[in-house]
Amino acid sequence: MKSDNLEKHHLIIGAGPVGLAVAKSFKEARIPYHQVDADDDVGGNWYHGTYKSAHILSARKVMEYPDFKMPEDYPDFPSSGQMLAYYQSYASHFNLTESIQFNTKVIHVNPINEDLWEVTFANNTTRVYKGVIVCNGHHWSKNYPDYEGEFTGDSFHSKEYKSTDQLKDKRVLVIGAGNSAFDIASESARVSSKNFLSVRRGIWIFPKTFMGKPLASLQVPPIPDWLREGLIKIMLKLTIGSHKEYGLPKPESKVFDRHPTVNTETLMHVKHGRTIIKGAVKRFLGTQVEFEDGSIEDVDTIVYATGFKTDFPFLPKELCRVEKAHVKVYGFSMYDTYKGLYLVGWMQPRGGVGSLITPYANLLASFVKLQDKVNCPVGMILKERGEPLPTSHLFGGAQVIKWIEKTEKIMDKLEKEGLKLDSNLNGFTNKPLEYTSRPLQKEMQVY
Ligand SMILES: Cc1cc2nc3c(=O)[nH]c(=O)nc-3n(C[C@H](O)[C@H](O)[C@H](O)COP(=O)(O)OP(=O)(O)OC[C@H]3O[C@@H](n4cnc5c(N)ncnc54)[C@H](O)[C@@H]3O)c2cc1C
Repeated sequence: MKSDNLEKHHLIIGAGPVGLAVAKSFKEARIPYHQVDADDDVGGNWYHGTYKSAHILSARKVMEYPDFKMPEDYPDFPSSGQMLAYYQSYASHFNLTESIQFNTKVIHVNPINEDLWEVTFANNTTRVYKGVIVCNGHHWSKNYPDYEGEFTGDSFHSKEYKSTDQLKDKRVLVIGAGNSAFDIASESARVSSKNFLSVRRGIWIFPKTFMGKPLASLQVPPIPDWLREGLIKIMLKLTIGSHKEYGLPKPESKVFDRHPTVNTETLMHVKHGRTIIKGAVKRFLGTQVEFEDGSIEDVDTIVYATGFKTDFPFLPKELCRVEKAHVKVYGFSMYDTYKGLYLVGWMQPRGGVGSLITPYANLLASFVKLQDKVNCPVGMILKERGEPLPTSHLFGGAQVIKWIEKTEKIMDKLEKEGLKLDSNLNGFTNKPLEYTSRPLQKEMQVY
């Protein structure tokens, strides 16, 4: 096995929207890096993971990188094709593409002696890096529910949905109530012979626009959460009405406790009679599906719009501290017990990815430089000063940006606190770990 030593370089895994922003910040901060992607082009999910007809949910204003505006003629909600073109032009504008090694899949990342990181690639070569920035995305490890019985018709996950050809003239059942479920059910309503949508529990449904403006980019002055929740509920009452009107269960969670579904098109198809709302699936009976209310429907095709799991399949188990969909890291990316490893992009902020990852990637560059000056992990400094661990993958965009700006201003203070910790610790080194192979779930796909 050939092994290259790149002890001064960091490796950025992934060239999706997050990996690209990190690469740009590192380049500007003159932090030596390598970047790899398992795919053969930039853009991540927008290159390989969305269906042709997908449009963004948040608005262009919050989705774009603040330092690279989307073209003037882009609509408020660009299509997946426009998003891909935008990420490709970002990568070439900032000369990022030329340094990306494509078709290069990372299979193992291990902490080794001397605080270095050994990275193994799918072609069985290894390289040793000073640090690793993981930007592998959170929309690839498919989640499937378990049901009694066997379904003998056609079935696929929303990740494999590409066009209406897969649904045309079929009796389709879409399972799920998130954004992909509502998007695919809307498409199915137009082309299928019969369209069922199985909704297990109530979700908050938002319109894409309010008073003609994209909801995600509405400027709301800083107000307490209870007031924000109250105002949103009034707005939803006026625009959408009661869930009962559509045969949908009432949500039990607070408005911002779960990811809202941003789609009113499906509600219209319910009113047109083109989409029939069903409750939870009870069991499969060949090509029939029985629901919890005892009703049975003939179904040709099931679309599992049942979400994704957050995972880092190339990390040793000990470094995969994922709880539900959030990662137990300090400062949104770092462990307190390891230095040189940064897990970025698992968060799902309200708003869009570009407006957040740009300031965060700059902060990350500052953290990497800070790590050069102190011996203890930067995550440990944050822990010691009382930064909390996340309890959810959902965050308010404004809240995260405020934290980033505040933290960027106290880098000198963090350095002093780190040096103090160093003198108390009497030496710190990463504990080397072997990669312990974890059986991949059968449905898990690794890029
Ligand atoms: C239909 C749809 C609509 C969406 N709308 C919005 C929206 O409106 N606003 C919003 O903010 N987000 C939206 N999203 C989410 C969007 O996908 C993410 O915001 C964005 O793609 C996250 O970027 P990322 O770089 O973290 O991950 P990804 O885009 O998934 O990129 C990860 C990259 O890492 C690479 N990679 C993974 N594992 C490895 C490995 N082992 N070795 C090498 N390379 C690897 C992959 O090949 C990929 O290129 C939407 C998603 C979908 C499906």
